[in-house]
Amino acid sequence: MTTTVIRGTLVLPDRLLEKGQLVIRNGRIAAIEKARAAVPKGVEVLDAEGGYVAPGYIDLHVHGGDGADFMDGTADSVLTACRAHGRHGTTTIFPTTTTGTPEQIAAMLRACQEVQKSQSASDGARIGGVHFYGPYFAPDKVGCHSPDGQRSPDVEEYHQHFETGIIRIATCAAELPGAVEFYRFARKKKCLVTCGHSNSTWPEMEAGFKAGVRHVDHFWCAMSSVSSLKKRCGTPMQASMEEFVLAMPEMSTEVIADGYHLSSELLRFAYQMKGSARLCLVTDSSRAMDMPEGQYRFGPERDGPWFINDGQVGRTIDGSGALASSVAGMDQMVRVMAAATKAPLWDVIRMATLTPAERVGISKDVGSLEKGKRADVLILSKRLQVREVIVGGTAMPW
Ligand SMILES: [Zn+2]
Ligand SMILES: [Zn+2]
Repeated sequence: MTTTVIRGTLVLPDRLLEKGQLVIRNGRIAAIEKARAAVPKGVEVLDAEGGYVAPGYIDLHVHGGDGADFMDGTADSVLTACRAHGRHGTTTIFPTTTTGTPEQIAAMLRACQEVQKSQSASDGARIGGVHFYGPYFAPDKVGCHSPDGQRSPDVEEYHQHFETGIIRIATCAAELPGAVEFYRFARKKKCLVTCGHSNSTWPEMEAGFKAGVRHVDHFWCAMSSVSSLKKRCGTPMQASMEEFVLAMPEMSTEVIADGYHLSSELLRFAYQMKGSARLCLVTDSSRAMDMPEGQYRFGPERDGPWFINDGQVGRTIDGSGALASSVAGMDQMVRVMAAATKAPLWDVIRMATLTPAERVGISKDVGSLEKGKRADVLILSKRLQVREVIVGGTAMPW
């Protein structure tokens, strides 16, 4: 039985515990208490040295990092991206599909399954499941994804994908033919059901909601607005996905808080309107994370569309300045969100930990520093830089 004690300011779900200590035994959190001077012999003590002890981050929407995209479809790429995100504090990751051929998506699912089966602490972020994101996007909201890989829901296709059992989050644009059937199916499979890359109206969202939709991908990005619907539907002007999410307490959403996608006013507004229990921080980062400036492929290495990493964010190569994914890890999202909202630290961290865990239904096991949960723990500096990452009680080698 191995025991580790971590000392520092503990970030609990609803408060900070100064001079606290976290006791880890057999990979689980055994106790949360005030720090004591003496610990039993042979117990390893880690000290945050004036910094924080926080739960490991959980990323619901992420495409890759360190040169690898999950859609490359190889175990090598999956491991590279998981390790890269581990170094940024993510301990549970939901690899996210892009648009692509059915074969490319099937290869991605297989590669994630293969890695998930044999993951250890040295492999970085653990795969919590796959976010089945592309290919069922609206043709006019494909964004930086390959337009050739976009299509409407195909029952035969998605039944096969879901058969793998690894899909835990399922996205589809609400206005596509077959969307409601897809949502019902995904709900039956106990997924977090979400609408994204969509130009849908309020009634289309309402139909989706009845079929199980409870989340919308990257708020304000590749989704409908009053003005985008004016182009689609004319007048009178229509309520959009934005109004639907803000009006419905059951709906959650996510923000890419890298500092380049959304201004700090928008981040603060999202936090004020939805609250920390309905807003998740996601990276939506591409393979260009932790890579030099230059051109990269979004999605599959073989034929994904090119984009530019300008050192801050991904942009499309057409010169329009349109965004094409982030190039930052969850640690940056947390720092930017903390600065933008001035919210209490536990509430900011909640949006990167407990809230995503609750939305996908894994909060019994991970998402907060609570007795009995898996010891996925971060040691953070005062400025929220990641100093150490502990996955299931074992320190991740850098
Ligand atoms: Zn997207
Ligand atoms: Zn994305």
